[in-house]
Amino acid sequence: MPELRRNPFTDEWTIISGYRGSMSRSFVTRSRAQADGGRCIFCEGSEALTPPEVDAIRPGGSTRDTPGWTVRAIPNKFPVLTVDKKLEKVPDGMFDLMSGVGAHEIIIESPAHVSDWTQLEPAALFRTLQLAQVRLSDLKKDFRLRCPMFFRSVPADETVTHSFSQLVCLPTIPGGMKKRLAAAKEHYLRKERCVYCDAIAEERRSKVRVVFEDELFVAISPYAAESAFALTLLPKDHIARFEHATHEHLKSLALALKKICELIDRALDFPVYTVSLQTAPFISSTGGVNVDDCFHFSFEIAPKVAKLVGFEHPFAQAFNPVTPEHAAEIYRSFLL
Ligand SMILES: [Zn+2]
Ligand SMILES: [Zn+2]
Repeated sequence: MPELRRNPFTDEWTIISGYRGSMSRSFVTRSRAQADGGRCIFCEGSEALTPPEVDAIRPGGSTRDTPGWTVRAIPNKFPVLTVDKKLEKVPDGMFDLMSGVGAHEIIIESPAHVSDWTQLEPAALFRTLQLAQVRLSDLKKDFRLRCPMFFRSVPADETVTHSFSQLVCLPTIPGGMKKRLAAAKEHYLRKERCVYCDAIAEERRSKVRVVFEDELFVAISPYAAESAFALTLLPKDHIARFEHATHEHLKSLALALKKICELIDRALDFPVYTVSLQTAPFISSTGGVNVDDCFHFSFEIAPKVAKLVGFEHPFAQAFNPVTPEHAAEIYRSFLL
């Protein structure tokens, strides 16, 4: 009963087999030891130990780089890319070279020493999303930047245990996003509809892959999920860009993201996972189609599978041993 399913968001095919046994040892799990907080550079009071902040939410109006913040954005101390450069594109023989322009920031999600989103109050997660929105809108003004990324990794063994997420803006559009844009454009050209809106309507009709939903968001186990127990969280309203989500959307999003993190911990016994935002790049059209019409922002949550059962291939062929319907059923059984 293995089958190949087409992912309508990427136009890639996933091999899905029907493993239904226990997945308890199939994920990389993380250590649950709590750091003591001593000399943590992200805790309130350690502001002098980090690079100067780029922005923060300070309800009492305290001055920058001092205590009194609820969420704080700083440049990454070891940035992959930096904005303090000129964007130069030059040929290098037959190859192409570009200077490493881009932004790489850290968002410290709480002044208190908490380690992940399950321990953050929804209000703190809301403020984190709010600051991420402000930072993205600000970086968008830099004409050199094209592709925003916002993500959080929950690794096995963290060097910094204080809860933080990362924001990166690239001067180019990476391959994964190009595929998404192309698939969204193709669907729009054929049907004059957003492929994500269509998928949301279909999933809500059949219900088999819906894990939970509220008024504004729906969490699904996607039809052609590229890894076991992956989840996608989408706004029900058509919103292409995360920076355009309203306060009501961000409040609902914070609750849904926290719920997913708690659900994953209960269902899969504290796995390592990543949460990543998929949002429209800073371009207005793709192949003649308006990006705001064809794209739709989402969050993807992917637990890290320990090993692919009997499947290793050099061509990055997506293989998922668990049907998304079975994963949804398991998740729903762990909902409180
Ligand atoms: Zn801390
Ligand atoms: Zn849509």
